[in-house]
Amino acid sequence: MSALWLLLVVALVVAEIGWLVWRGRRRGPSEVQRRQWLDADLPWRAWLSAEQGPRHLAHTARLARRVHFHGCAGQTLDSRMINTVCGLAALLTLRAREPLPTLRAVLIYPGPFWVPMDHPDEAGLVTDEEVLHSGLSEENGRVLLSWDDVQQALIGAEHNVAVHEFAHQLDAMSGGEGAPVGAPAQAWADVMQRAWAAFEQAPSPVIDDYALEGPAEFFPVAVEAFFQRPSAMRAAHPELFALLTDYFALQPRPLFFEPSAHGA
Ligand SMILES: [Zn+2]
Repeated sequence: MSALWLLLVVALVVAEIGWLVWRGRRRGPSEVQRRQWLDADLPWRAWLSAEQGPRHLAHTARLARRVHFHGCAGQTLDSRMINTVCGLAALLTLRAREPLPTLRAVLIYPGPFWVPMDHPDEAGLVTDEEVLHSGLSEENGRVLLSWDDVQQALIGAEHNVAVHEFAHQLDAMSGGEGAPVGAPAQAWADVMQRAWAAFEQAPSPVIDDYALEGPAEFFPVAVEAFFQRPSAMRAAHPELFALLTDYFALQPRPLFFEPSAHGA
């Protein structure tokens, strides 16, 4: 073989390897890899039926391909992080044909981040003061998350910032009044109003008082309790718990990190 032919063969092999690497990156992780990560990272996968498992995986992959992810304030991103965030969003959309169609971008910060306050304070003034957030959902389809807070939720923190902000996106799709898209409006309003009235009488043992900020916060805060303290929520708010169980089509079971799961 002449030197020229040898050079040509080597060039073709290099080009083929380069193309395979590019194609692999473009496609992202394999389905098997995604499922292994989800099973390892999201304890709520145990709530899924045999039919829902593959659907959850498909919605996760769809979101990972469709939504633009961006690391902020020096945060680097990898496929497993993106898979985790998309997997959390997909837990809320098992009934939907297309998971969160209005979600365009997710910005991930290493921890809580400062955001200029853009709504009036108690005196009715809008100041240029900045407020520390662990998550934020914007009407333009952008969600901002603190990665530290996302991770803490996976191991049992009381708050789950990712499901909170994605619940805001579901609510925004139906007008942002506290009843998410596809919910039976009247039944939803009745249950929410009863729960609201009860909270005003006595604080909830499981739902954060922040729920009383307004109807638009009530649903996302209740969703956090549903995912982080399902056993306590079932006991304290059976009607609200049943409403969310039905809406998400999930069958909650005690989680390894719940205080009640250990008899505490
Ligand atoms: Zn909120």
